[in-house]
Amino acid sequence: MRSERGYLASKHNELINASKEYDVIIVGAGIAGMSAALLLDSRLKVAIVSKGQLAECSTYKAQGGMAVAVGPDDKVEEHIADTLRVGQGICREEAVKVLTSEGPEALEFLISLGASFSHNEKGLLLTREAGHSRNRVVHYYDYTGKYMAELLASKVNATTNIDRLDSCYLVDIATDQEGCCGCVVALAGKLVYFRSAVVVVATGGYSGLYVRSTNAISSNGDGVAAAYRAGAVIADMEFVQFHPTAFTTKSGRVFLLTEALRGEGAMLLNAAGQRFMSTYHPAGELAPRDEVSRAMLQEAGKQGGKPIGLDARHLGKEYLMDRFRQVYAELAQNNYFMEQDIIPIAPAAHYTIGGIKTDLWGKTNVACLYACGEAAATGVHGANRLASNSLLEGIVFGRRVAASINDNFPAKRMNSGQLACTTGEIGNYHDVSAVRTKLELAAGVVRQGKDLEAALQWVRDSKNSSVIPPDDMQSYSACNAYQLAELLLEAALLRTESRGCHYRLDFPEKNEQDLQKHILQQWGRKTVIQ
Ligand SMILES: Cc1cc2nc3c(=O)[nH]c(=O)nc-3n(C[C@H](O)[C@H](O)[C@H](O)COP(=O)(O)OP(=O)(O)OC[C@H]3O[C@@H](n4cnc5c(N)ncnc54)[C@H](O)[C@@H]3O)c2cc1C
Repeated sequence: MRSERGYLASKHNELINASKEYDVIIVGAGIAGMSAALLLDSRLKVAIVSKGQLAECSTYKAQGGMAVAVGPDDKVEEHIADTLRVGQGICREEAVKVLTSEGPEALEFLISLGASFSHNEKGLLLTREAGHSRNRVVHYYDYTGKYMAELLASKVNATTNIDRLDSCYLVDIATDQEGCCGCVVALAGKLVYFRSAVVVVATGGYSGLYVRSTNAISSNGDGVAAAYRAGAVIADMEFVQFHPTAFTTKSGRVFLLTEALRGEGAMLLNAAGQRFMSTYHPAGELAPRDEVSRAMLQEAGKQGGKPIGLDARHLGKEYLMDRFRQVYAELAQNNYFMEQDIIPIAPAAHYTIGGIKTDLWGKTNVACLYACGEAAATGVHGANRLASNSLLEGIVFGRRVAASINDNFPAKRMNSGQLACTTGEIGNYHDVSAVRTKLELAAGVVRQGKDLEAALQWVRDSKNSSVIPPDDMQSYSACNAYQLAELLLEAALLRTESRGCHYRLDFPEKNEQDLQKHILQQWGRKTVIQ
């Protein structure tokens, strides 16, 4: 193995001495990675690696559910229309068609594994979330993600051709003349070269780059950064969706209060106890998340920064304790009781639309490198994600990745005996909390050019000021955070308009004319606006 520049090159012998071989390596054990793994041809030797425990991934944390057009009054066309409307004119329509029309099959896939979602004698209970014109969210109480993640993990563990390796950290992706040929991981304190015919990046999003996030801090886009270093095109980094109803616990942790609460009738109140959302948007509390988040900030500004409240009192204790078990218990531990208290809330970074640009089968521009789930940018969400479309995205595109690999497995490549390949350059280690604070202040719900520029300059200066080479998971992640912050800030500066979850005070309107120009500029820099 040969590394182009410094850091990994210095580890050459270590890497060669500890190399392993698989047909397919899937990085990420969330809904996307595990769905892909389970559908790969059972003759393939597969490794599914993840850096942490199952409970840390976003899949496990998902509360509300999965959007699928299966209700008696629903149609795929309605799901398409809602996704396109919320995506604000820049969704990739073919991707939206794939997502929505393969939704029922994705649900069937889970049911075939043994899932039994919340239902009554008439069938599945479907809830509504913001931006949906129908009740179409399939759920398991308010811990749908945990339910799905545990089910998928139990199946992965029982599948003999899949090695599941937790605490195995992707450091970099390896490439040779023919494309991707494996990856370098940190495992049990050592760097190991995992050689493979195909690598699938399913490492989730990068909301953990923000100080205030509903994601685990470890959701910081490692896979996107590694793919970028391997030459993959990165798209849509500026689109970070903030969830309006996040609660801060006594210990300072950010905990999501699912949108299904508003779907079931919970209201947003200002400090005077009045509902205000209908003065900002005709859909009131069920307006798209970006609209609700901005309205909340504006309303909080009018009342001197006092927090906005979520009021679910009228739904009653018995119902709340049953339907919203997880949320009720967490709030109760923090001395808030939903049947009697108004809960203080504020927006937090929640879902990242940007990532590794792929086609409709999860293929990137680097041969044999795939991506799926939140790490991928299929264009399906446009400028804003329709609520509960992402668990669905993980299954639909995870399945497609598996189908594409099964059909096109590059068998000859595995036998070539080649070990020479290249890795990217992971950079030097800097304090990660500083870059998180910069992003939170400059690239939050509301942005403006001068703040974005100053933050970008700071990130570049920091990157250029040498500190120390990284040598553990934390420091690799910190390097990735600086790399992604730079891409995010660049993309946010290049998009001189406001659209969906990217809102700029200095460009408050949509700018259809300039869009083409941005696309050209960003392709040159390997990041694109789709
Ligand atoms: C609180 C919360 C609630 C949500 N609610 C919903 C909802 O109701 N409906 C909905 O549709 N969506 C919801 N979402 C979004 C949805 O959960 C995610 O978009 C989706 O689960 C992402 O799945 P994924 O498989 O792409 O990534 P993840 O589930 O985040 O999994 C990423 C995996 O990659 C691994 N990984 C990351 N970096 C590395 C590395 N360097 N080396 C090795 N492994 C690595 C992680 O360990 C993990 O196993 C919610 C998200 C959050 C945070």
